[in-house]
Amino acid sequence: MSPWPGIVAYYREYLKIDRHAPAITLLEGNTPLIPAPRLAAEIAPGFELYLKYEGLNPTGSFKDRGMTAAITQAAHAGATVTMCASTGNTAAAAAAYSSRAGMRCIVLVPQGKVAAGKIAGALAYGAEVIAIRGSFDDALTMVREISSLRPIALVNSVNPYRLEGQKTAAFEICDALGRAPHWLCLPVGNAGNITAYWMGFKQYHAAGRSATLPHLLGAQAAGAAPLVLGHAVDNPETVATAIRIGRPARGEQALEAAEESGGRIIAVSDDEILAMWRRLAREGVFVEPASAAGLAGFAHEVRQGRMAPTGQTVVAILTGHGLKDPDAVTSRAGEMKVIPADVRALDELIR
Ligand SMILES: *Cc1c(COP(=O)(O)O)cnc(C)c1O
Repeated sequence: MSPWPGIVAYYREYLKIDRHAPAITLLEGNTPLIPAPRLAAEIAPGFELYLKYEGLNPTGSFKDRGMTAAITQAAHAGATVTMCASTGNTAAAAAAYSSRAGMRCIVLVPQGKVAAGKIAGALAYGAEVIAIRGSFDDALTMVREISSLRPIALVNSVNPYRLEGQKTAAFEICDALGRAPHWLCLPVGNAGNITAYWMGFKQYHAAGRSATLPHLLGAQAAGAAPLVLGHAVDNPETVATAIRIGRPARGEQALEAAEESGGRIIAVSDDEILAMWRRLAREGVFVEPASAAGLAGFAHEVRQGRMAPTGQTVVAILTGHGLKDPDAVTSRAGEMKVIPADVRALDELIR
């Protein structure tokens, strides 16, 4: 078997990227689709559940799929500087792929609202990280404006190549299952990913690579649910920082995708998100809180009796790795027990 070449090389015939652009890659993609029968029996009996573990991409989130495509195209077009606004994962991915391509990378993050592992990644990969006294939405407005004034490649998901890369996860799911699942559930923040999945499923269907299309279930956090409320949210609040977004750049397209698929976008509470986040970890799959929102949404719909259990397949997209946000765990864990280096003390403690 030839080694995995990364998503740009593997799916190039399906991607609208310059055919001659040498791929800037860290061999992202080809992430595991983990069957979860025990979890399914508990939260969605009668469904066949798979977890697409996108946290296993090189920088720890699905953003690497979009970034390999965006940076491949930008480098080919001669860009030397990239910029993005980020709740964290886009920053880490932009930093890694920009450095890989020898480009300067500048990222804007909302001050105090980004998980520690994401900032650490962006800094380590060599980005210039700038915190703004404002929200992600403010940061996005700023980078859109400055990149229209200066020769800077904007690599947020308003960049069409990001979606080209991200849609490859839909291809992988169809290739693994032999067709699209009945349901695909995922978290929705800036709404680029759900838009990209729908593009991918439709394209694979049209190309005869999947006989069917899935229904999309997008989940927003209740405190940051503009697509459910039908209006922008000025001060979005949620424990799921990756989807703490009040003005999704791809909101219209996301709503269209959900509707066209016969699915919907719903809101889930932070408690539901955290409960599913803990439950996934007990399955051996450690994700960041936002990543649990899609499956929390599916479980919510099952509890409400809005999903008919008829042996259908469900794929939950787990967007980012749990190690990105260690504080989410430690701030909720009890004090760690400390004992002398003495086996009797250990025996006493565990007895
Ligand atoms: C970016 C991100 C999301 C949201 O994706 P959108 O394309 O902005 O909707 C969800 N989870 C994680 C971990 C992310 O990094």
